[in-house]
Amino acid sequence: YRHGEPSEVIVQTPNGAVPFGEHHPLVFVAGPCSVENEAMIVETAVRVKAAGAQFLRGGAYKPRTSPYAFQGHGESALELLAAARDASGLGIITEVMDTADIEKIAEVADVLQVGARNMQNFSLLKKIGAQEKPVLLKRGMSATIEEWLMAAEYIMAAGNPNVILCERGVRTFDRQYARNTLDLSAIPVLRELTHLPIMIDPSHGTGRYQYVPAMAKAAIAAGADSLMIEVHPNPAKALSDGPQSLTPERFDRLMQELSVIGKAV
Ligand code: PEP
Ligand code: MN
Repeated sequence: YRHGEPSEVIVQTPNGAVPFGEHHPLVFVAGPCSVENEAMIVETAVRVKAAGAQFLRGGAYKPRTSPYAFQGHGESALELLAAARDASGLGIITEVMDTADIEKIAEVADVLQVGARNMQNFSLLKKIGAQEKPVLLKRGMSATIEEWLMAAEYIMAAGNPNVILCERGVRTFDRQYARNTLDLSAIPVLRELTHLPIMIDPSHGTGRYQYVPAMAKAAIAAGADSLMIEVHPNPAKALSDGPQSLTPERFDRLMQELSVIGKAV
């Protein structure tokens, strides 16, 4: 089937409305995997803003594989995100893991993220669809395109049309050199199948900071509407996902390289 007009998801941020969509400029989302403390989140926000990002990402509630790994600071990290929002003017994107947290997260976040591990958490999708903040729906690590689009339908059927899809790498047979396989072919496939805006996350998609610039460029060339990139002021000391995080300097350099590629809108 062919859809009609591409939808635009317009997100209100302190710096004004930012539209995501096929006919809008690229939108850049950057920040650490986890919100660790006030100094690091504010510093990261100010630096990625200066480099050209419109949104700060950062997890307060983290879906970690091991229960003994850092789980995120939870509610207190939401306050730190609010401080970073005030300091930078950036919009905030952060993950919701539990339906019980939606309301308090929505007080701080401009976009609510549903993570890969919750893509088919249908009760979460229904509740997040019944509130007004735009939603970023990451692709499950083994989800088909059809399952992903149906997960988006759950949100929209519950009343919220403002859904952004984010490809973050899928599992394939070889995880020795890259954490996941970034499915860039999803971009033209989604363009044909859905009107929704398309974001690419080359950080989780590769798991290594060295590979992020090449895949960011490839994503733009393939037609992505937005990029999500993990940035940490000191990746070696990061509490989560340090190996795939760019330093603010590397992010700034990448943004300069990307500015010459651009996007046909
Ligand atoms: C994240 O973006 O912080 C994250 C946990 O990603 P994913 O759900 O794609 O693994
Ligand atoms: Mn991460």
